[in-house]
Amino acid sequence: MRTPLIAGNWKMNGSAELIRQFGERFAQAGLPEALDITIIPPFPYLDAAQHAFEGTRLGLGAQTLNPVHSGAHTGEVSGQMLKEFGVCYVLIGHSERRQLYRETDDHVYDRTQAALSVGLTPVLCVGETLEERDAGDTMQVVLRQVGHVMARLEPAQRQQIVIAYEPVWAIGTGRTASPEQAQEVMAGIREYQAGFDTQLAAQLRLLYGGSMNAGNAAELLAQPDIDGGLVGGASLKVDDFYAICQSAG
Ligand code: 13P
Repeated sequence: MRTPLIAGNWKMNGSAELIRQFGERFAQAGLPEALDITIIPPFPYLDAAQHAFEGTRLGLGAQTLNPVHSGAHTGEVSGQMLKEFGVCYVLIGHSERRQLYRETDDHVYDRTQAALSVGLTPVLCVGETLEERDAGDTMQVVLRQVGHVMARLEPAQRQQIVIAYEPVWAIGTGRTASPEQAQEVMAGIREYQAGFDTQLAAQLRLLYGGSMNAGNAAELLAQPDIDGGLVGGASLKVDDFYAICQSAG
């Protein structure tokens, strides 16, 4: 019922050559039919990616957007601009943006509204730090981050959201959450959504992120409430990312 989504977040990595390699590889057959795949490269590669991915299974996402459509915001990019390059998904509230660029729950909400207003699918990223997990606060932190956005959206808007649970301690550390740990949080998020609307909760796509790789993806994706992955490091190697996509079948 929920089509899995595998998204590769390149962060501030990649090259024009890597875009070309992905386009070539993902033009080949051999991937599960019912699977959405998207690459989320840095902004300067969007134009080349749109062309290189034409006719392939790869869609395009962006790593952030500015809440306003245009104006005197040096260095920023708007949702409308992203739309011009065929972008469908946009990450919002990635923990690196929350930590390194001080994005708050309010910023995350504003960006979500901006994405929705131009028809981009927000991928709302949430997750606890190691200290928060050790203190037993995981669910409280995650549901605060989810709730700050979801509780303020219109019912029709809630249907457009994808949520990525990325425990901060698992990002780029090689320390993946166990399938059980990830499933427990996912089930909690889905249950929270059910408080708004049970049908919405059943349709909500939940992605896991944090050291997902070709070796552990199948086990994570087999969990009942995990509908895909948000892959960092392993999305920079075409063979690894292709293997993760194959395991989502
Ligand atoms: P890694 O897969 O490198 O741990 O990164 C996960 C992530 O932050 C994806 O958004």
